Amino acid sequence: MDTTRHNWTREEILEIYNKPFMDLLYEAATVHRQNHDPNTVQVSTLLSIKTGGCSEDCGYCPQAARYHTNVEGNDLMSVSQVKAQAMRAKEAGSSRVCMGAAWRNVKDGQEFDDVLEMVRTINRLGLEVCCTLGMITENQAKRLAEAGLYAYNHNLDSSEEYYKEVISTRGYQDRLDTIENVRKTAVTVCSGGIIGMGESAEDRAGMLVALSTLNPQPESVPINALVPVEGTPMAKQKQVSIWEMVRMIATTRIVMPETQVRLSAGRTQMSREGQAMCFFAGANSIFAGDKLLTTPNPDVNEDMEMFKTLGLNPQKPFVKKAQPQTVDAENSEYRALGEKPRWTRPGHIIERNLAAQGKSKA
Ligand code: SF4
Repeated sequence: MDTTRHNWTREEILEIYNKPFMDLLYEAATVHRQNHDPNTVQVSTLLSIKTGGCSEDCGYCPQAARYHTNVEGNDLMSVSQVKAQAMRAKEAGSSRVCMGAAWRNVKDGQEFDDVLEMVRTINRLGLEVCCTLGMITENQAKRLAEAGLYAYNHNLDSSEEYYKEVISTRGYQDRLDTIENVRKTAVTVCSGGIIGMGESAEDRAGMLVALSTLNPQPESVPINALVPVEGTPMAKQKQVSIWEMVRMIATTRIVMPETQVRLSAGRTQMSREGQAMCFFAGANSIFAGDKLLTTPNPDVNEDMEMFKTLGLNPQKPFVKKAQPQTVDAENSEYRALGEKPRWTRPGHIIERNLAAQGKSKA
C-alpha cells in the first residue's frame, strides 16, 4: 500500500522547513532510515553530450547562447566517445550515467537517433541510463524507453511563481507535460530544482508542493545550490548557506520519503562536514566527476575518500528497479513522427536576463 502523501500544502511544507534545526534533522533522518539504507549513496556521472549554444534564457545557465560566458559549445558527442566515458564512469564506481544535451526540446532526426544508440550502448554496459534533453513528446519518451532508458531528468527548477522570474522562453506547464509524457512509459522520473536564485522559502516550499503532489512522486529529486557563473543573470547571487541546503534536503526527504534525494550542484563550495550533514538529513545520491555539465564538482577520488571516512557504500545499479530491456533500432516498434509540438514561449520581460544580454527595457 502506498502510504506516501500526495496532498502536501505549502503551509505544511513551510512549517517543516522552518522547524528548529535539530528537530528537522532528527525527523528527516528518521524518515530516511525507515525508507532507505542510510549508509548507501547512489553515485551518478553527468556527461554533457552537447554543450552550449542553447536557445533558452534560463537565468542560471552558462549554456544559454545569449549570455556572455566562458562556456565553449560542442556538437553532439559520438556514440563511441560516450561509450568510452561511460566505461570510465563504471570503473570509478558510478551506477548511473546521465547524459545532458543543451536543447530546448528533442527533435526527431539523426541526433536523436544517435542519443537512442547511446542509451542502448550504456544500458548494455549494465549501467542505469538517464537523459536530460529538454522537453519531449510521448512518442519520443516511448522511443527512449524502448532503447533501455532508466530515468529522464526534467527539473521544475523552482515554484511556478518564481519560475517566471528565471525563464521567459518556456512555461511551467510544459515541464509538467514532459514529466507526464515520461510517466506514460516505464522510465523513472528525475525532477528537482535549484536554491539560491533569489527565491523565498515560500518558493522553495512551492516547488516541493509541485513535486510531492505528483502521483507517483519522482523517483529521484536533485537539489542544486546555484553556482553563480560570470556572464549569467545570476552571476552576483550570494552563495546559499549550508544551513539552507540542509533544511531543503531534510524537507524534501520528509515530504518524499521514498525518493532518492540527490545532492547536486554546489558541492565544491561545501565542506565534507556540510556534505555529511546533508547525507544525515536524507540525501542519498550525488554526482561524481570533476565537472557538472560546465561547473566544477569534487574529484572522484575526493568523493571516495569522503565515502571511506563516513563509511558510505556506493549503491549498485538496478537496486530500486529492474534493468530495462534494450530493443535494437531495426526491431523498434516506433518511428520518428517528425512532430512539431507547440511548446510555449511566454516571452515576458525578465530585467536581469535582458541586462545580462546587454539589453534593457528602457
Ligand atoms: S538550463 Fe538547459 S534549457 Fe536552460 S539554457 Fe541551460 S541548457 Fe538551455
